[in-house]
Amino acid sequence: MMKSVAIRSVRVIDGTGRTIERATVVVRGATITAVGSDRDLSIPRGATKIDGRGLTLLPGLIDCHVHLCLGAEPDVVDAIAKETSSLTLLKAGQAAQRTLDAGFTTVRDAGSRDHAIFTLQRAIDTGLVPGPRIIGAGLAICMIGGHARFIGQEVEGAEQVRSAVREQIAAGAAVIKVIASGGVLTPGTSPDQAQMTVEELQAAVDEAQRAGRKVAAHAHGSSGMKNAIRAGVHSIEHATLMDEEAASMMKQQGVFMVPTLSALATTAACRLGCGIPESALDKAKSMTKRHQVSFKNALRDGIQIAMGTDAGTPFNFHGENAQELERMVAFGMSPMQAILASTSAAARLIGIQDQVGTIEKGKLADLLLFEGNPLRRIDLLRDRSRIIGVMQAGKFVAGPLSRT
Ligand SMILES: [Zn+2]
Repeated sequence: MMKSVAIRSVRVIDGTGRTIERATVVVRGATITAVGSDRDLSIPRGATKIDGRGLTLLPGLIDCHVHLCLGAEPDVVDAIAKETSSLTLLKAGQAAQRTLDAGFTTVRDAGSRDHAIFTLQRAIDTGLVPGPRIIGAGLAICMIGGHARFIGQEVEGAEQVRSAVREQIAAGAAVIKVIASGGVLTPGTSPDQAQMTVEELQAAVDEAQRAGRKVAAHAHGSSGMKNAIRAGVHSIEHATLMDEEAASMMKQQGVFMVPTLSALATTAACRLGCGIPESALDKAKSMTKRHQVSFKNALRDGIQIAMGTDAGTPFNFHGENAQELERMVAFGMSPMQAILASTSAAARLIGIQDQVGTIEKGKLADLLLFEGNPLRRIDLLRDRSRIIGVMQAGKFVAGPLSRT
């Protein structure tokens, strides 16, 4: 017989925008089988009961932009160049565990040094090591000499783009990452300059869609953003220097913004001498204000926003992913909006909204049980001592409840 768990008298923030006080949620096997108020729901016989008074139950959080292969070192380009790929894989395993411990049950890995990310994904899926569900891109696809080539495959021309996309998919990619502008961390590339041609970006989208995969485009500057939107990508990562035209194109075409406010903010908070290369510091510092403005404009214009941290970049630590919700609230989102961006909206962007992202009957039981009310204080989500249990597909996998 399948085991049942009933969480009783808990505040449920269900990921659809609804909050239910004094609710009961029943999980049977891997699936949520009932959600309702204590009054309306009885506990199935034999179910393990959990007293949820004072606690909040959220859908397991989803981070749409991490790099598990990067260890948040001050100079990640140098770090990864000096370590073996097997060491990188071990580090990624530790990053995965930390991410899960922080209540994140799913991540989209937006580029890794090699295909070992899919080995980690399989190890997690088969229960060998703990970690979030991974929707991985494999290598980011970039132009020759382009940004992110330290975790990328350099290509030139539409034909090479198509083969690179096919290679990622053959290795296990569930999403394709393309680089449409220069970046902060890659020396000699400028964030406001476009990279890859529209034709190359179109080839990536076309080839990805043929295999049913979505495309995420890295773009800071508006010209790169527009190239990517014209090519039909599903999300713009960073969207740092978004102008009016790029904003209206995103809005019209339903392209998601994945702001990754934490990426620039954690770098820009550092001083010369912290180990971050001077070029990266300068670029981050010069763009943070405009990044905040772009985020506020996106929010005002009703552009779809999905949460992503870019965890793994300098001082942007795995396991601190919830810092992004604090930043989104600081720049104008309500706590509920920040939670939606980190649950149902994130699931929609990734394309897994039928399985996870909300607490509803029939969904997989990916849940975060947590002490306190994040609608009053979003920063509580970052406090790991408040996590009572992290459930993945009906099993407590982190937090005190996983040890009972
Ligand atoms: Zn990134």
